[in-house]
Amino acid sequence: MRHVYLHVPFCQRRCSYCDFSIAVRKRIPAREYVEAVLGELAAVRAADPGREPGDCGGESLETIYLGGGTPSLLPPEAISALLTSLFDVFRATSSRDALEVTLEANPEDVTLDHATAWRHAGINRVSLGAQCFDDRVLKWMHRSHDASRIGDAVQTLRATGFDNISLDLIFALPSELERDWARDLDIAGDLLPAHLSLYGLTVEERTPLARWVSRGATSAADDERYAEEYLLAHMRLAPYGYHFYEVSNAARDGRRSRHNSAYWSGRAYLGLGPAAHSFDGRVRRWNRSAWESYRRAVSAGLLAVEVEETLTEEQRELESLYLALRTDAGVPLAALCRPLPPCAALWVERGWAEVREQRLTCTPEGWLRLDALIRDLTSVGRAS
Ligand code: SF4
Repeated sequence: MRHVYLHVPFCQRRCSYCDFSIAVRKRIPAREYVEAVLGELAAVRAADPGREPGDCGGESLETIYLGGGTPSLLPPEAISALLTSLFDVFRATSSRDALEVTLEANPEDVTLDHATAWRHAGINRVSLGAQCFDDRVLKWMHRSHDASRIGDAVQTLRATGFDNISLDLIFALPSELERDWARDLDIAGDLLPAHLSLYGLTVEERTPLARWVSRGATSAADDERYAEEYLLAHMRLAPYGYHFYEVSNAARDGRRSRHNSAYWSGRAYLGLGPAAHSFDGRVRRWNRSAWESYRRAVSAGLLAVEVEETLTEEQRELESLYLALRTDAGVPLAALCRPLPPCAALWVERGWAEVREQRLTCTPEGWLRLDALIRDLTSVGRAS
């Protein structure tokens, strides 16, 4: 395992669109959380004594990602305790600079003291949940920060030595919010973070947003506006030097997320914490999602795994095709039918895909149709 994900489930409130596995808490049970995660790590090691999680086949641990939830709500000492244990178990103490260690943070948690302590703990990349630069819209989202905190957070992070900063933004918001997407893209571009992640708003069941939609108080953006805003992001961010290396992710100067890139290239990873997923290249496991249930399992010395599935050869092929087409690496032509399947030739003709260096890659228009393209390609595979 060269990639470790830690799910920190705590948030102080639930955002209007969020269906993630979180535990809303006024007081963050940091000590209990650290104990639980380290207990799970011990249980994982005990379950497979022949293969330590730190056994990376002679290669080093590459990435740790603290995601959530809101990991920045953990006190810095708790983050430091977790990372110290992980560095130790994964024998990463001598090569920390080579690691990518990401912390997801809400802008309001970024203070000079916190950022300094995060750096000392070993964090070297921060992903900020910015979402939007309009206070009215942030309020509608139930976010706890205002727009000015985002720029302040970026400055504070830079002042404490962070140069690898990512911002998350959400697009395709309901039209009545009159959110100015072009303006937000320009503000994000002017801040020049190394990385941007852009997500289209989706209406998930059992969220405040789903309730508003069901009673007709709001409605999701239609496909046309979704596509317009997605393509606008590609156009507007290019002059700032951003390159989309994945459907939803753009980086400057090659500063891709190494952790997420590992997911997209089908590499193995270990997930710790409630709802965390793990994958060893063949078997995927995911943990109990409710915090209390997870905590009870690990404090009883058990693994917290709720579901385990073994991927068939066919599922693995389909998944790797899908993941590869999500990225700018695309798929090697050699992996497709020869000559180029007629559907793929049609996409090239329509500008949805291109062939570069013997690989088929999607254009932004193609990424908007990714599911349909995969369906086309796999039905060719089945027919041949
Ligand atoms: S901060 Fe993130 S995880 Fe927490 S409720 Fe909001 S969107 Fe969900």
